[in-house]
Amino acid sequence: MKALKAVRGMHDIQPNDTELWRFVEREIKAVLQQYGYQEMRLPLLEMTALFQRGVGENTDIVEKEMYSFLDRNGESLTLRPELTASIVRAGIEHGLFYNQIQKIWSMGALFRYERPQKGRSRQFHQCSVECFGVQSPASDAELMMICARIWSRLHVSEYLKLEINTLGSQIERQAYRMSLVDYLTPYTNDLDEDSQRRLISNPLRILDSKIPLTQDILSQAPTMQDYLGSESTAFFEQICILLDQRQIKYHINPQLVRGLDYYSHTVFEWKTEQLGSQGTVCGGGRYDGLVEQLGGKATSATGFAIGFERLLLLLEATLVKDRLLKKEEISVTLVISSPESIPYSMDLLESIRNHFPKIEVLSAWSGSLKSQIKRAYAMGSQLALMIGDQEVSGKTITIRFLKEDNKTETITKQALFELLQNQTVNHNNIESLSAD
Ligand code: ATP
Ligand code: MG
Repeated sequence: MKALKAVRGMHDIQPNDTELWRFVEREIKAVLQQYGYQEMRLPLLEMTALFQRGVGENTDIVEKEMYSFLDRNGESLTLRPELTASIVRAGIEHGLFYNQIQKIWSMGALFRYERPQKGRSRQFHQCSVECFGVQSPASDAELMMICARIWSRLHVSEYLKLEINTLGSQIERQAYRMSLVDYLTPYTNDLDEDSQRRLISNPLRILDSKIPLTQDILSQAPTMQDYLGSESTAFFEQICILLDQRQIKYHINPQLVRGLDYYSHTVFEWKTEQLGSQGTVCGGGRYDGLVEQLGGKATSATGFAIGFERLLLLLEATLVKDRLLKKEEISVTLVISSPESIPYSMDLLESIRNHFPKIEVLSAWSGSLKSQIKRAYAMGSQLALMIGDQEVSGKTITIRFLKEDNKTETITKQALFELLQNQTVNHNNIESLSAD
């Protein structure tokens, strides 16, 4: 029989890794809370038309990456390849955009049929952060500050560089697109195959090409800057001023266009050199046209998405992960010498959990003394609670201090609780002193 395996490009997140996932999720949520963002949870499946209209027919996603199928009613559905279109769909459906500012985040799994490699999988995860109803460039700058704050909390600021660009208004972009096509058309045969196709379908994406000859040709091409009106220029400059004021470093990259159709004015990416060619950890921009395009009334909108897999790879590659997950909780492990100790021990552990909700209370309930103690070390416990016949009959506990030369002591339950109480208090003090 053929072995059952996960679908290619779709990965299990194993118990050893989920702690880091939860840590990163928690930090990101804490920052978003500070800026007044609220969570939205959305279906994994949407009508295919949503992404065709929302992401754009001529994008990589819609052209070749979507998992689409007909359901039993013959309706075409798609596993969501991104979150923004779904958030906008839901916002319109529930009337969230009527003269209101909405700050929304959503996290979860996305699906794209791509060639799996490091930092690129077919099921991956994003946190998408969207601000609706604010026309000011301050909201774009604020989004970049949110990112900067997240990087700082995760200790990866030094590895992530911000690149920004402006695509101007729709009218300015159209004029630029025409001049770019005029410039590139005589070189059609020298362009790579993808770019030849894009010359007709989505010419701005050619700027994004990694092919050296295409890049050579582009070096003399007209730039978006030449087509920006004074309002667009001022909008972009205001973002730069706000970033400068907060000393957030950025590089203006006139070639930055982003893969999705719906952007206007601001686009930005946070990139790292630590992950090879999948170096973009986060991307975003302004998409003032999307709400209207999907059937709502015209609404200013700007947002970004962080790719979890790449962010976690960065935490691992830079060894920041080990620092972040240094065990801080108080942990105790039960070690029993025989099954007869189980009823007494079970009572004791449940009672510890009742009184100390923050203490991790571990037990294996079986195995040799040696293997149980080994496990207590491996789990990072500070204390082993050793229970044998003597402890059961005397209603005591022999504690072993695993981090202090294995000092042992036999004490009453009351004394144990006092000890745990003191440890918890000390622990909290250390925490509150170190928070700045
Ligand atoms: P790329 O150019 O690398 O394909 P993209 O422009 O398609 O990225 P977006 O749709 O803007 O990416 O998504 C934002 C972020 O989501 C990316 O910066 C990346 O971190 C992550 N991401 C996108 N596609 C994948 C994937 N297939 N596997 C893992 N992460 C991904
Ligand atoms: Mg892509």
